[in-house]
Order: sequence, then structure tokens, then C-alpha cells
Amino acid sequence: MSETVQVVAVTKSYGNVKALTDLSCVFREGETVALVGHNGAGKTTLIKLLLGLVRSDSGTVRVLGEDPAAGQFAARQQLGFLPENVSFNMALSGRETLTFYARLKRVPLASVGSLLERVGLGEAADRRVGTYSKGMRQRLGLAQALLGRPRVLLLDEPTTGLDPALRRSFYEIVAELRADGATVLLSSHALTELEGKADRVVIVNRGRKIADGTIEELRSIARLPTRVRVTL
Ligand code: ATP
Repeated sequence: MSETVQVVAVTKSYGNVKALTDLSCVFREGETVALVGHNGAGKTTLIKLLLGLVRSDSGTVRVLGEDPAAGQFAARQQLGFLPENVSFNMALSGRETLTFYARLKRVPLASVGSLLERVGLGEAADRRVGTYSKGMRQRLGLAQALLGRPRVLLLDEPTTGLDPALRRSFYEIVAELRADGATVLLSSHALTELEGKADRVVIVNRGRKIADGTIEELRSIARLPTRVRVTL
């Protein structure tokens, strides 16, 4: 499996706050990786680096072979992103919202209807987003992230606030993406929820990577800090 994301010895601070310290990790094609850590651990900062929204202070970041912070980042089109607490214009319908993003991303508009079906919003497509539940908005966010069949998907705490049934259907879609060969990065606080869903887990604590392996491998590591071990 080829490497789609390479992060080598990356350090990133915001003023005096060190968000990431000497962090290295690699993600591959067809791999679902969980990025796990407590609040403030640095998960969103890593995602922002991969999107090219912030620059590292040192170290290198490559997404599909390119530097995301470079002016010309052609691979941006192949990157899908679902932010934490996604928000939309409540006055637009689901279909109008996705059409807007499809135009922005220069993706054929023909894919809008099928994507809405895929995330289970086919029947609600013409209702205003203001009438959607949190779970429906999250699914719309996922549809937006899936526009253009991205090779790398970055999902920032995608299941927070979803009920168990919605979580299950969310993970079913993630499994399909994995089968399509996409690299999926899921950030989360809850490692237990990701059992059987992620091929690998990367745990960050205070900006440092403290573990990287399958859930079974991580269970056997004694030196994880207690607060993190509790969630294993
Ligand atoms: P959460 O689970 O709460 O989203 P996280 O693991 O995603 O947390 P980050 O958002 O990456 O963590 O934050 C890492 C550290 O960097 C935290 O201490 C945070 O307060 C700090 N930080 C993040 N963004 C900024 C910013 N724009 N300016 C200053 N400090 C920031």
C-alpha cells in the first residue's frame, strides 16, 4: 500500500503554546487510522497541517507527495475534510448546500444527488438544513467531504453527539471508503468506540505521539499514561 500522508518530525507552536512536538506518522492507501487524544492534545492541529491551513515550525508534511502549505497544492482537490461541529447556512436545502460546495470544488453537479442518497439524505434533500437534526447535518458534512471522491479524508471528531444508530451508519460509510482505497483519518476522544473500525490507532498526548499500532498492540503497552489507558 502506498503512503498517502507523511509527517516527519513536525513541531508546531502557537506563540508560547506547543501544539505538536517532533511528531512523525505515516498513513497509507486503503487504511483507516484513528487519531486519539484528549482535548488540546494536538489532533486538530495535525489535521490543519495536512490541509495546509497552518505551517509547521520544523519538520516536513507531505500529502499525496505534495507540501500542503505550498502555494500550488494540486492534491487539495483529492482531500476531503469534515470539521468538528460542522455548520451550514440553515436557509439552504441539503441539495442546494451540496451543489454550492460542488461548484466551489469544481466537481460535476451530477454527483450531488447520488452523494445525498449515499449518506441517507435522499428523502430530506430538498428540506432546509435548518430542519435537520444534528446527525443529519453531520451526514451532510460527510457528503460535502466526499465530493470529488477524495483519496484522503480527514474527519475531525465526526461522531461526537451522534446517537448509536447514526454512529453505526457513519462507520458503514467509512468502511466503504476504505474498501474504495481511500485513506481515512478519524480523530476522536474515545478509543473504545473505534474498535473494529480503525486499522490503526495513533495516540497523541500533549502534542507528542505516544503510541501507534493496532488496538490489540496498544492494549499490551504498559507505559501509556493512566488517563489514556483508561480509554483503551
Ligand atoms: P480538541 O479535542 O479540544 O479539539 P485537539 O486535540 O484537536 O483538541 P488542538 O486544537 O490541536 O487540540 O490544540 C492543541 C493545543 O494548541 C491546545 O493547547 C490549544 O489550546 C492550542 N491551540 C490550538 N489552536 C490555537 C490557536 N489558534 N492559537 C493558540 N493556541 C492554539
